[in-house]
Amino acid sequence: MIQALLDYQTVDAKLREIEKKLSGSEERKKAMSAKKYLEGVEENVNKLDARAAELTAAYEQATAAQLKLKEQEAAITDALDTLEDEKEVSYLLKKVEELISKIKTLGAKAAKIDEEIQAIMKEYATIKAKSKVAQAQYNENAKKYNELKDSVKGEKEAIEKELATLKGKVEPTLMDRYLKKRANKIYPILYAVRGNVCGACNMELPMSEMNKLKNGEVIDCDQCGRLIYLSK
Ligand SMILES: [Zn+2]
Repeated sequence: MIQALLDYQTVDAKLREIEKKLSGSEERKKAMSAKKYLEGVEENVNKLDARAAELTAAYEQATAAQLKLKEQEAAITDALDTLEDEKEVSYLLKKVEELISKIKTLGAKAAKIDEEIQAIMKEYATIKAKSKVAQAQYNENAKKYNELKDSVKGEKEAIEKELATLKGKVEPTLMDRYLKKRANKIYPILYAVRGNVCGACNMELPMSEMNKLKNGEVIDCDQCGRLIYLSK
C-alpha cells in the first residue's frame, strides 16, 4: 500500500521541479514585481488626488482671505486721506500695519501651499514615467514567462499522465491526505519513521503514535505536517 504512494512521490518530484523552475524564474519575478507596482499606482494616485484637492482648497482660501484684507487696507488708506484727528489717524495707521503684516503672512502661506502643489505635480509625472516602464517590464516578462511555460508543457503533461496512472494504485483516502499537503507546497511529504522519531523533523513520537505505525497506519507528524509510515 505504502509502496504505491512512494512510487507516486518519486515521480511527483519531477513535477515539483518544474513548478519550482516556473515559480522561481526571473521572468515570473520581474512580471510579478511590475504587476505589484502597477496595482499600487492607483491607490497612490488617489492619495495624491485627495491631497491636491485639499491643497487647492487651502490655497484658494488663503488667497481669498488675502484679497479681503487688501480691500480693508485700501479702504482704510482712503479714509486716512480725509481724517484730521491725530488720535484716529494713528489708530488707523496701526491698523494698516497690522493688516499688511497679516497679508504678508497669508502670502507666505499661499506660496508654501503652491510649493507643495508643484511637488505633487512632479510626483504625478514621476509615477507616469515609472508606470510606463513597469508596464513594459510586465508585458515583456509575462510573454517570456508564457514561453517558458510552453517550453515545459509537454514534459509536464507527460509527468501528470504518469502520476494519474500511479494515483489509481494508491488507497484513495491516503492519496487525498497526500494531495492536500502537496497543495500547501509541502514536498517531500511521505517519510519513514526513524527509530521513534519523525523521519523529516526528528520529533519524538509518543507511544500511541508508534503503536499506530506498527499497525501499519500512516500518521501525520504534529510538528512538520509530513506523513509518516513504518517501513518493513
Ligand atoms: Zn515531523
